Amino acid sequence: MGRGLCLLLSLGLLGAVWLLPSVRRRRARRAAGCRRCARNARVAAVVIPVSALLLVAGAVVRTQAAVFPLVPCSAHVLASGAVVPEPVPRVSVQPTWDAARRVVLSGVSGLALAGGRLVGMDACQSSQPVVFWRPPRTSAGGSIVGETFVAWNVVDNGGRPSERHGFGIMGEQTYLRFGPNITRGPEENAALAVHESRHVDQAAVLTTIGGPVVMPLLYTVDDAFYPAARNHFERAAGLDAGGYRTSPGTEPDPQWAVVGGIVLLLALVLRTRIRLLSRVLARGRVAGGRHAPDRCPRHSPGWFGAGP
Ligand SMILES: [Zn+2]
Ligand SMILES: [Zn+2]
Repeated sequence: MGRGLCLLLSLGLLGAVWLLPSVRRRRARRAAGCRRCARNARVAAVVIPVSALLLVAGAVVRTQAAVFPLVPCSAHVLASGAVVPEPVPRVSVQPTWDAARRVVLSGVSGLALAGGRLVGMDACQSSQPVVFWRPPRTSAGGSIVGETFVAWNVVDNGGRPSERHGFGIMGEQTYLRFGPNITRGPEENAALAVHESRHVDQAAVLTTIGGPVVMPLLYTVDDAFYPAARNHFERAAGLDAGGYRTSPGTEPDPQWAVVGGIVLLLALVLRTRIRLLSRVLARGRVAGGRHAPDRCPRHSPGWFGAGP
């Protein structure tokens, strides 16, 4: 696979920045003068093609599930062994955009499908692929991963008697309703399909811009400050349709443990830049250009007054 394609798959349109001649020249110059920069370049030269290859493998899995369709979700399995599918909820999406977003997300969608199967989940096809745990575990919710709905959230003996064991329908002695059965009827089913379809839109746009990690990253950060039904992605997708029963305010409600974790992670990632900034603050601009032998300024050791 070409370098450009690898970058596009892994980092979206932002990956194209790495292809700019000026950026490439600057990176090559730094790698020549700094051992750490050279090492980082070697790591990137492995990580980016590997993640691109994984995404291509995922796209193959997703394509396979489109060519050989999965069992429809909510199919009723009668005592006789006959399988009667419930109608798949229709979501009205502009056809070209619908195809485009499926293609953009195919890598991640396929990896979610394959990963779900690998850990022993079952798969079915609704308006999108779904992976879920078999009974006796009862699905209570999940997340969109690419286009695939991963019903990871389970409860023990959850919900009403009719909802337990994933059988979703009252008086269900003769058939089993195959699927996660999070919704309790066709209307809820259709509403949830619209909600998840909006998440697919969000994921497709963000993946195009910055690759597959952008949506989960932004969602997690948003959720740390605006948890659950306050989350902007959830509000944009529709709270009622998404099964959020309570409507809290729109003001932030920071989850300090998560916020702390994010700050710690940011400090780790930006460690070398913060260190360089500390030297500039302590000793003025000129310290920003000084460096240790075989190191660029950013990768030179020493905080504040110490260092080159
Ligand atoms: Zn360096
Ligand atoms: Zn949602």
